[in-house]
Amino acid sequence: MAKTKSSKKTTTAKKTTTAKKAGTTKKAGTTKKAGTTKKAGTTKKAGTTKKAGTKVKAKPVSEKTIKPAVAAKDESAQDSVESIIQRKLLALYTLQQIDTQIDKIRIIRGELPLEVQDLEDETEGLETRINKYKQETDDLNQQISNLKNSIVDSQELIKKYEAQQMNVRNNREYDSLSKEIEYQTLEIQLNEKKIKEFEAAVQQHESIVADSQGKYEELKSDLEVKKKELDNIIADTKKEEELLLKKSEEQQRFIEERLLNAYKRIRSNAKNGLAVVSVERDACGGCFNKIPPQRQLDIQMYKKIIVCEYCGRILVDDEVASTVDVEEIV
Ligand SMILES: [Zn+2]
Repeated sequence: MAKTKSSKKTTTAKKTTTAKKAGTTKKAGTTKKAGTTKKAGTTKKAGTTKKAGTKVKAKPVSEKTIKPAVAAKDESAQDSVESIIQRKLLALYTLQQIDTQIDKIRIIRGELPLEVQDLEDETEGLETRINKYKQETDDLNQQISNLKNSIVDSQELIKKYEAQQMNVRNNREYDSLSKEIEYQTLEIQLNEKKIKEFEAAVQQHESIVADSQGKYEELKSDLEVKKKELDNIIADTKKEEELLLKKSEEQQRFIEERLLNAYKRIRSNAKNGLAVVSVERDACGGCFNKIPPQRQLDIQMYKKIIVCEYCGRILVDDEVASTVDVEEIV
């Protein structure tokens, strides 16, 4: 609401600048009071009256006097420099609040995929580990089977040698066959020992795979849930961002080109994306350098748009800052 009101005024403000120059200061003074009252409510009125004391006579404005004054404003369309500047600042500060919100959304969304990426990496790492152990288990089983085959071979050889021993012609032949049998028996023993070792390794591998498999399933389902969650958040923030981008565009239409370009330039140069900041505890809300009292007074006078001498950001006073309701905009 506040936005549209101030925006409408900005448009008329442009028109009235010329009229103002034509030298209707007196009339401008009276309409100003009404115009400001409408915009920022009662607190605003009090503030301006005090500050711009010379211009606006501190005459209490009742509800009755406001209404006709507002109506008259549309006819005469006269505005003081102060109210024009204040409206420009209001429009700029409003735009800043919208754009800041867009920045925040983009930062949040930028971090979300990283979280999923981490989970994906972890899952993938575990999968690789499982596959490596499975491959090793297969290799071990293959070796076990080879060893078993060679045991069978040895046993057959032993049988053959034993049969040959029945038909030997001399002791030398018999002893030679006995040595062969002994050798094959040792081979069998050695292979049986290896098989035992490999089987133990297979068992160990299988229990690791089983453990990892359980962890993997858990991680995988976590990842699926998180992925879906993040997809939703991304979709939601996209929607919110689009809405805000539209609002930002709308708001930009109420700001003259020269000023809007300055805003964009300052914003793109600022790391925190702030081009319009309020004075907080006597310091610039963008770079936190102290602002001299005279400069603060100048800001409150609304005679012209004042920038921070350190960082070049456009400065607004509390009055403008508090008029823009962030919650309402966003
Ligand atoms: Zn600054």
